Amino acid sequence: MFDAISEIIGQGVKEMNIILPLNSEAVFGTYYDFLAERGKLVNLTAITEPEKVARLHFLDSIALLGAISLKNERVIDVGSGAGFPGLVLKIMRPDIDLTLLDATGKKVTFLSELCELLKIETNCVNARAEEVSHMDTWRETFDAAVSRAVAELRVLCELCLPFVKVGGVMVAMKSVNSDDEIDSAKNAMATLGAELERVYDYEIPGADITHRAVLVRKISETPVEYPRRYARMQNFPL
Ligand code: SAH
Repeated sequence: MFDAISEIIGQGVKEMNIILPLNSEAVFGTYYDFLAERGKLVNLTAITEPEKVARLHFLDSIALLGAISLKNERVIDVGSGAGFPGLVLKIMRPDIDLTLLDATGKKVTFLSELCELLKIETNCVNARAEEVSHMDTWRETFDAAVSRAVAELRVLCELCLPFVKVGGVMVAMKSVNSDDEIDSAKNAMATLGAELERVYDYEIPGADITHRAVLVRKISETPVEYPRRYARMQNFPL
């Protein structure tokens, strides 16, 4: 497994013109093994074959670095699941100050154990985004919020933007068919103090799939009434 993962990652980053830190192929190999082992117990990912994990999880997450540098930044991954994209970004950019947030306890346990195994320092937190982002220690304290496969963009803006400092960025990973979703989220962005900066489409090496990173820039403080409770967000999206 190990060699297959290393090779795909090594080749993939070359194609994307991204530099892999020393020895990180081995780190991805260990990550894969732990995911494969624990994935059987905890429902962590629908994708299990090594090649698919390497491309659709690891390379997909790494590709964000083509759009944002994140150097020395304080970053939160909202709804991180098994660590995508946040933990992969931390492996690529060890200088990131990373928080992995997830509402599901089992996933956070997996993440904490994995970080210990990989000797990576992160803040793994089991909480709901819409609750912690009202606290002073969390609110508008991050340079960047990243998120993949958590919610429709209008809802995702409300989950992520309250964490982001004015001047910071939210990065939502979406499919290339998200034009309408992005359009209909413009009101949510404006209400929460942000605006669409750009859309970054990228090809996942070797997978013949194009994905999209939606970059939303925070331009003013989010009004205190947001985020609302989850049911309200979903039933009455901004
Ligand atoms: N980002 C990962 C996981 C996606 S699954 C990936 O792309 O593979 C969605 C995850 O978001 C789940 O683990 C779920 O527990 C978490 N989640 C959903 N709503 C949340 C909320 N309001 N606050 C925190 N985590 C949430």
